[in-house]
Amino acid sequence: MSQPEVVVSAAHVRKSFGDKEVLRDISFEVGSGEVTVVLGPSGSGKTTLLRALGGLERPDAGVITVGDASLDFGELTPGRHDRLPRGQREQLTALGRQSGFVFQGHNLFAHKSALDNITEGPVVVQGEDPQAARERALALLDQVGLSEHADKYPFQLSGGQQQRVGIARALALRPSVVLFDEPTSALDPETVGEVLQVMRDLAEQHWTMVVVTHEIRFARQVADEVLFIDGGVVVERGAPEQVILDPQAERTRSFLQRIL
Ligand code: ADP
Repeated sequence: MSQPEVVVSAAHVRKSFGDKEVLRDISFEVGSGEVTVVLGPSGSGKTTLLRALGGLERPDAGVITVGDASLDFGELTPGRHDRLPRGQREQLTALGRQSGFVFQGHNLFAHKSALDNITEGPVVVQGEDPQAARERALALLDQVGLSEHADKYPFQLSGGQQQRVGIARALALRPSVVLFDEPTSALDPETVGEVLQVMRDLAEQHWTMVVVTHEIRFARQVADEVLFIDGGVVVERGAPEQVILDPQAERTRSFLQRIL
């Protein structure tokens, strides 16, 4: 069988905050239409890695490629983001635009309806025609099971519904990959399932996804590959039945024992 085209690649990515090396030489790839689940203890660097893929955090070194944007962070001018030479800033922006990001909290605009939250990015950032963006947003709301709620404001929606709007908002940008940072960890237990179901549907529709989560059952069912990271390194990587059911590293085994 031929390998799918690589959509996301991290090569030798490093990131320190002060003296603390949070990512130490991380490398992996995600093929088109594949789902990678990132597991690891709190503080192991999962969010930092995801933010780096999404152009939200600037690694100190390494090459990140997402869709048709690629950036060698080792070659960027050190210092503050807003002081980067214009060409480098544009490269970072281009990288960020390849990803849709779903945060732990939904981060919706409180004063905008569900529909307007979804059309904001396409219209304001990507310059899409408002009517076309609206039609697409309605289709996306339908896809996440919320067509009845298009005109509601976030406070009128449950946590799970808000997070589903957050997912529709990420998809509206037509990203090459959707990055999920613990999308269900801030939700009431009864709404976790509906969000995971939407994510399962996306996987079936062959969206490329990188998902940081502690939902092991979801990882077993949906992931093509599981990365277990600890201390800023990829400790173990492979198919879910391998990493979750037959972990080789002691660190993976003890982590899984703690959360299962
Ligand atoms: P995880 O998502 O696995 O819990 P994080 O990537 O959030 O891990 O954090 C990894 C480490 O990096 C933690 O020790 C955290 O405190 C530190 N860290 C993350 N972001 C920053 C930051 N902006 N400034 C300083 N330290 C940070």
